[in-house]
Amino acid sequence: MRANVSRYDLRAPDGLTEALHLVSNGWKPLAGGTDLMVLLEAGKLAERRLAGLWKLDELRGIEVGDETITLGALTIFAELRHSPVVGLNLPLLASAAAEIGGVANQNRATLGGNLANASPAADAAPALLVYDAELEIVSLEGTRRVPYHQFHRGYKEMDLRAGELIARIHLPNGRGRWQGCWRKVATRAAQAITKVSLAAAARVEEGRIAEIRIAYGAVAPYPLRCHRMEAALRGAALPAQLPPFDELAPIDDFRSTARYRLKVARNLMETFLASLA
Ligand SMILES: Cc1cc2nc3c(=O)[nH]c(=O)nc-3n(C[C@H](O)[C@H](O)[C@H](O)COP(=O)(O)OP(=O)(O)OC[C@H]3O[C@@H](n4cnc5c(N)ncnc54)[C@H](O)[C@@H]3O)c2cc1C
Repeated sequence: MRANVSRYDLRAPDGLTEALHLVSNGWKPLAGGTDLMVLLEAGKLAERRLAGLWKLDELRGIEVGDETITLGALTIFAELRHSPVVGLNLPLLASAAAEIGGVANQNRATLGGNLANASPAADAAPALLVYDAELEIVSLEGTRRVPYHQFHRGYKEMDLRAGELIARIHLPNGRGRWQGCWRKVATRAAQAITKVSLAAAARVEEGRIAEIRIAYGAVAPYPLRCHRMEAALRGAALPAQLPPFDELAPIDDFRSTARYRLKVARNLMETFLASLA
């Protein structure tokens, strides 16, 4: 039995400025806690001062504009799964949200937490890469924007400095009209960490791939947007040949082997390309 929960300080500010003061003084952000509490219980969380973000209404909400959809970092997966606007305009994200953990997890786990936890297997990540998401990052110094495909830099390394929070995720509106797919391969249908995932979307014109976006989960040290694959497929006549897979660098671990992951990644791509024809 694991029972390692040790003492910790938790402050839950009502406003963003107070939260930013805490975070800039070294307090660790705590959103839904579905990753952090697991670490804490396992005795693997170094930080003992937690800044609870849950009451920050500034970081909630789904806003739809003509050009852009904006998601607050505290948006939980249950909202993404059930939102008609997300289902219509960001269907790959809605599908991923429906497959994250189980219902209890989806009622607590946030989109911002999924990105900042920076797991290579984070299930929201491939859809956000395909949708060319941009992160709005805030600190006491101000606000900056980072294209999500530049956010991850290595295993658990990201473009998020001390004192910063992810505030919002901005996505272009209109990608819902592209032909897309989200596939998660795991041991079970629910409550299972991804072995391989694929999000992909393409715009087809006159039998050719006019535009395409491809992203995989769990085949590299971080969620991977596959620019070389996209370049190989852009303009290709349908049915298209498989692109090169040299951007993927899967590993062997207790969940799967690199060989299996690569094989599944190819199969998923084959199925997606066949669906376009
Ligand atoms: C039973 C179970 C099943 C799960 N299944 C899945 C699954 O199928 N797919 C999947 O992808 N994940 C899964 N997870 C992992 C987890 O639920 C998700 O990664 C979730 O989105 C984390 O969000 P959170 O709000 O709980 O983050 P927290 O645990 O609160 O935080 C996670 C990390 O992000 C940081 N953080 C949080 N919010 C911000 C912010 N706004 N700005 C900056 N940093 C921030 C925290 O400091 C921490 O480092 C599962 C977890 C459990 C316990």
